This record gives sequence, structure tokens and C-alpha cells, in this order.
Amino acid sequence: MKKKQFAVIGLGRFGGSICRTLSEQGMEVLAIDIDEDRVNEYASIASHAVVGDSTDEAVLKSLGIRNFDHVIVAIGDNIQASILTTLILKELGVQNITVKATNDYHEKVLKKIGADQIVHPERDMGERIAHSIISNNVLDYLELSDVHSIVEIAASHRLEGHSLLELDIRARYGINIVAIKRGNEVIVSPLASEMIRKGDILVVIGADEDIDRFEAKVV
Ligand code: ADP
Repeated sequence: MKKKQFAVIGLGRFGGSICRTLSEQGMEVLAIDIDEDRVNEYASIASHAVVGDSTDEAVLKSLGIRNFDHVIVAIGDNIQASILTTLILKELGVQNITVKATNDYHEKVLKKIGADQIVHPERDMGERIAHSIISNNVLDYLELSDVHSIVEIAASHRLEGHSLLELDIRARYGINIVAIKRGNEVIVSPLASEMIRKGDILVVIGADEDIDRFEAKVV
């Protein structure tokens, strides 16, 4: 299988972390930044690292950006540069574009011009951390829609020693336990006969209000 080719534009904390992780996973990564120091920092990490202004169409063309499977625009505060870069990538026919949005207006414009994925790392991380601060039992949280989530909940002593069948969580709360994390083991799609043990972490999917109800009553 041909290796997927990625380009990361903007090597700040977010873009840099994406570039590093993709490279660690053995992906082909082109790192681009207008700042030479940043580019030097990633020269030994990415497959290629180049200095360039991504708002200059000629620069992106000369890098053959069209041929990349996925381009990530991680320009931070310069919203104008982020939008212009996305627009050029779109016009050049890049198949898959992920852009970091700085605020809601930025996101609106990115949607309009056809960014394929828009991410809000600070906002999303803030939400996740807030959820785990509110409840001692919620360890992690992933929003699926405005009203649905996947949540990791530490099982309380009230659940210990009971099987999923006995607890009847799906019928009583309308939520599903999709996995149980037990030490280093992950039990995916646990059977109804599975007993909950001390230290188990339940990975639960469902409507937020149902998950809240489950958490308040049972955990
Ligand atoms: P973060 O919040 O993720 O740390 P930063 O704002 O620090 O983001 O980083 C954004 C990066 O994008 C910087 O390294 C900056 O040099 C780079 N950048 C900004 N404008 C351009 C541009 N027109 N072309 C290429 N890189 C750019």
C-alpha cells in the first residue's frame, strides 16, 4: 500500500505536535512554516521541512501540494493567513483539508470555503477538562454531537461484583457500555455476563442527559 502523504502548514505547538506524531507513526510528512527557526526545529523530525509563505499560491504549487493526501493548516493567530491558505488549497484541488480554528467566526468562514474538518483544540480540550473536573468519576469525554457523547466513567463500589445483565443499564438508562478498561486490558463489547470489578473504567455511549442520570444515580 502506498504511504499516505501529509503536509502540515504552521509549526506552532498544535501543528508541531501533529507533525511529530504523524512522523512517529511512520507517515510521510512535509512541514511548512514561514519562520526559518521553526522549520529547522522540524528538519530532523519531518520527512521534509521547508520555509515558505502558504498564502503565496506559487509556493504551494511549487511544493506540489495537490498531490498530498491530507493537508493540515495549523496557523494560529493569523486568521487571515489561515483563511487565505485554505482557500488556495481548495482551489488547487487538495482532497482533504483540516484547519485549526481560533474562534467561531473563523470556523464559519472555514466552513463556507469548504474546509473538510475544522478543529478547535483549545475549546475542545477545555470542554473535556471541565467535564472531568465537574465529576470525579468522569475521566474522559468525547462529544459526538450537541447531545451525545462517549464518556469514560470510573466504576464505583456500587457497581462492583454485578454483571451488566444484573445492572440492566441499557434498559434503565438508555446508554450502552461499549468497553471496559481493566488495567492494561480493554474488553470491547463486553458480554452481559461480564462482572464489574474494582478499578474498572466504563466506556459509555449515549445521550448526555442519560449519561448524567446514570452517573448521578449509579456511580
Ligand atoms: P499555536 O497556537 O499552535 O502554537 P502559533 O500561532 O504559535 O500556533 O503558530 C503558528 C505557526 O504558523 C507559526 O510557526 C507561524 O510562523 C506559522 N505561520 C503563520 N503564518 C504563516 C504563513 N503564511 N505561512 C506559513 N506559516 C505560517
